[in-house]
Amino acid sequence: MFSKILIANRGEIALRVLRACRTLGIGAVVAYSEADRDSLAAQLADEAICIGPADARRSYLSAPAVISAAVVTGCDAIHPGYGFLSEDAGFADVVRAHGLTFIGPPAEVLERFASKEATRRLLEAHGLRTIPGSGMLRDEEHALEEAARIGYPVLIKPSAGGGGKGMRLIRTPHELETSFKVSRSEAKAGFGDDSLYLEKYLEDNRHLEVQVAVDRFGHAIHMGERDCSVQRRHQKIIEETPSPALTDAARQELCARAVRAVVEAGYENLGTLEFLVDAKGDAYFIEINCRIQVEHPITEMCTGIDMVAMQIAIAAGEPLGITQADVVSEGHAIEFRILAEDPGKDFRPQSGQILGYLAPGGPGVRMDTHIYAGYEVPSYYDSLLGKLSVWAPDRSQAIARGDAALRELLVDGITTNIDLHRAILANEVFIDGKVTTNLLDRVGSAPFVAAGNR
Ligand code: ADP
Repeated sequence: MFSKILIANRGEIALRVLRACRTLGIGAVVAYSEADRDSLAAQLADEAICIGPADARRSYLSAPAVISAAVVTGCDAIHPGYGFLSEDAGFADVVRAHGLTFIGPPAEVLERFASKEATRRLLEAHGLRTIPGSGMLRDEEHALEEAARIGYPVLIKPSAGGGGKGMRLIRTPHELETSFKVSRSEAKAGFGDDSLYLEKYLEDNRHLEVQVAVDRFGHAIHMGERDCSVQRRHQKIIEETPSPALTDAARQELCARAVRAVVEAGYENLGTLEFLVDAKGDAYFIEINCRIQVEHPITEMCTGIDMVAMQIAIAAGEPLGITQADVVSEGHAIEFRILAEDPGKDFRPQSGQILGYLAPGGPGVRMDTHIYAGYEVPSYYDSLLGKLSVWAPDRSQAIARGDAALRELLVDGITTNIDLHRAILANEVFIDGKVTTNLLDRVGSAPFVAAGNR
């Protein structure tokens, strides 16, 4: 096992990793940018080190800055959290070349799953159904040919993409002609890679994902699925487990198929396979995330597994130590992403000082956050202030607990989406468990925003 881990991330996930290190008895050093000097993780850690200015390219995304911080502080491993360098095969390789361990899949594995388009083909060869789509697009003419073959509407997707960014819905050849070049340059600017592919657009879909873990010896388990259908602009805002859209038999089948495919494809460490489920209930694989996910707490609440500890142990070369039969998922959990953005003003990101903060409590309530009264929310990073997760024996009780906890949660001084969450919980489509990923974009958030302000 490691003796000291450098936490190369910020916000709530830095704190989450710090907590895992503490319970495992491993030392931890929090790496922070100048804008995060006052972050809770930096304050609570026994050791913290500044790795550069606010601009993430020169701090959290800078391999030399992160690796030298790990070397200087005597760490033997680096935990990248999510986002930033967490799925960067080149970084994982350089970390290893410095005699350190990257906590995540080995560099070769990250490389194999780096392209979304290639991963589609790889996992299709291992038994997962994928949405009809194209290979990598050569040029506009090729895109038009492929779209005609697949049939409109199609989505243009950046192969190196993530976070729902850069995708475009195309309904006609004309739209494809006007969008192709723009998508290319957006992908280049956003991900440093301009490769694009097409996928048939599924009109009313649900987003389901299967959590897996594979150790170095090829032993694997799944920890059930999460339903992340409540989204805005392809970004998740509420997640729950189990999915109200699956029967037990369908769940077992999907999860078993997912585990089999990744083991055969040589995956290692924690991972999430994402699927879209169409109106008929057929699940199509869309991508794999080779890291800890934002929404992992709901799986932890139902299974009792500390997934960050598991991720660290796998990276250290330890066997999983449990089998599928040991994974028992109980009850129902829901996570709400608490974001610093104003739903009434087109979700504009908010920054500034948190004047007051009161966390909710009670049975089955968990708050993962780095904020505190007096904390200054920097404008440089994403708008995630924290995650409120609730657990209860069944879904309707989890919804009731969620609403009670959201009522208690107080974030003063900055506008958040707390009321929007309450409005979604009160919505019939959500209560019936019938949300599709386009719900908020289709009806707009105005009815929810208005209801939330009641
Ligand atoms: P990213 O890697 O940017 O998060 P994903 O491929 O995971 O992108 O897709 C994110 C979301 O975009 C999905 O949850 C879904 O809402 C929507 N989406 C992706 N692919 C399709 C598709 N083929 N048809 C309809 N919606 C899609």
